[in-house]
Amino acid sequence: MDPGRLCHNNMLEKDSRIYIAGHRGLVGSALLRRLEAEGFERPITRTHGELDLSRQAEVEGFFESERPDYVFLAAARVGGILANSTYPADFIRDNLRIQTNVIDAAYRGGVKKLLFLGSSCIYPRDCPQPMKEEHLLTGPLEPTNEPYAVAKIAGIKMCEAYNRQYGTRFVSVMPTNLYGPGDNFDLEHSHVLAALIRKFCDAKAAGAGSVTVWGTGSPRREFLHVDDMADACVFVMEHYEGDGILNIGTGKDMTIQELAGLIRDVVGFKGGIRFDPARPDGTPQKLLDVSRLASLGWKSRIPLREGIEATCTWYRDNVGAGPGGGVSMPREGS
Ligand code: GDP
Repeated sequence: MDPGRLCHNNMLEKDSRIYIAGHRGLVGSALLRRLEAEGFERPITRTHGELDLSRQAEVEGFFESERPDYVFLAAARVGGILANSTYPADFIRDNLRIQTNVIDAAYRGGVKKLLFLGSSCIYPRDCPQPMKEEHLLTGPLEPTNEPYAVAKIAGIKMCEAYNRQYGTRFVSVMPTNLYGPGDNFDLEHSHVLAALIRKFCDAKAAGAGSVTVWGTGSPRREFLHVDDMADACVFVMEHYEGDGILNIGTGKDMTIQELAGLIRDVVGFKGGIRFDPARPDGTPQKLLDVSRLASLGWKSRIPLREGIEATCTWYRDNVGAGPGGGVSMPREGS
């Protein structure tokens, strides 16, 4: 396997045909914001209603007519610990379909470069921390999200196999837990950071006495702002080549208890924090070793507190007061 290297021959041009699959999701929308802010003329996007990525013929037709040169594959069925364990079949089926259709159509359509978004949950449950890229497939996965992780691993291996057999240039990145504007704030299906922003904001508004946090509070997680993620995706698209997967994170983690305390502080909630150990903790620690990407020249910039403040503001402006309080099913997105 080609371990990967720095390259400078893939700079995105303002008129490049860039397709963002999943542009309404957390990462896809951040990528679109980023490219539009930099004056890219026409990132190509399709809503789910316009193009169902789980349907092969539709995807092939789209690639034939649009002929993208670069593809950010940020479309997926995603969700937190409960959504993953409640809908395991949907998670494995939809992700396998979407990524298989897009990767294969990208090859057939002669796409110059594709960036596939994996996830840090592809690493073994008991992976040595911080998790290095070479730990992939060295042990059993965390059971709460195994079907999702297996689909993502299949996507990574598909990119590698296409590179080897067909000479494509498809790269895979593994983001840590992401958060930011556009996140899913649904209490049952979201990830922890968005769920806690909602719980603390709503508890403050309602004058509640305490907020309940799932699990024991002891698991450790790492959190990356999605604008940093978008920046890293563009960096990797332009500057990295090879089969080796790349971790994207901050390199720092904290306990769920510490995270809850930080969000409580940012929101200004004065009540208490309770833990509900009847809810699953999931994997005990998820911290990425980001030295590989750092050695290529990229590191995260947005401090966690600042990112949480901005996300709280976004939540209050866009979700909190809206109809239904942002309740939604897990959706296609990052
Ligand atoms: P994971 O990183 O794949 O385990 O997914 P999550 O982001 O859903 O959960 C991370 C950790 O936060 C787990 O230990 C959860 O039990 C814990 N957690 C605490 N409160 C919440 C909550 O309200 N929602 C979610 N999704 N997780 C929570």
